[in-house]
Amino acid sequence: MSKQLILALSKGRILEETLPLLADAGISPAEDLSKSRKLLFDTNLPDVKLVIIRATDVPTYVQLGAADVGIAGKDVLLEHGAEGLYEPLDLEIARCKLMTAGVTGQLPARARRRVATKFVNVARRYYAEQGIQAEVIKLYGAMELAPLMNLADEIVDIVDTGNTLRANGMEPRELIAHISTRLVVNKAAMTMKHERIKPLLDRLGSAVKKRQTQLAE
Ligand code: AMP
Repeated sequence: MSKQLILALSKGRILEETLPLLADAGISPAEDLSKSRKLLFDTNLPDVKLVIIRATDVPTYVQLGAADVGIAGKDVLLEHGAEGLYEPLDLEIARCKLMTAGVTGQLPARARRRVATKFVNVARRYYAEQGIQAEVIKLYGAMELAPLMNLADEIVDIVDTGNTLRANGMEPRELIAHISTRLVVNKAAMTMKHERIKPLLDRLGSAVKKRQTQLAE
């Protein structure tokens, strides 16, 4: 195993909040990420590289050891299963909730509930645990449309303010999980590169605490 440290970061919403935390922990990309179409970046540290990939691919990269450390939302980790990963740090960013939702005031009529979601594994597990029969339909976006178009009775989706649901005549129902961004580590790397990863975890942990204190002030 090379002594290089590869960090897999989720692009999009999480990235903007991750970079200041990484900077606080002493790691900065060698160039402006927003001005580049590259996917693999050098950093200020010669032995640390960043890959910027889709959030849903982060657990796969880390699980299979292509990256040593990853940063991804708990929603993505729950859906992936995240076996073979340690999850030592909650970065406490991009907080939201994974919830069921449906058309306001209209309870599911079918005995076997139709549920549209991109989180099919989470949804199957959740409804089974509740003892509710559910047919889970995979969608890739605009989940809010499914109940309105009679494609589904309910959806499982991420809710922050609830504005998106309300704008589409829907209401949040049951909470499945509180979500925030987590740092994950490949299990073999945690042992083999412990001397390199441990200080990173400590510095990121301090950066998270500092940010929480600043937000509370
Ligand atoms: P809201 O209207 O504030 O409830 O936001 C709901 C939509 O914003 C969801 O459908 C998600 O696609 C997106 N969203 C909100 N918060 C997050 C987050 N922390 N991570 C990923 N997507 C989010």
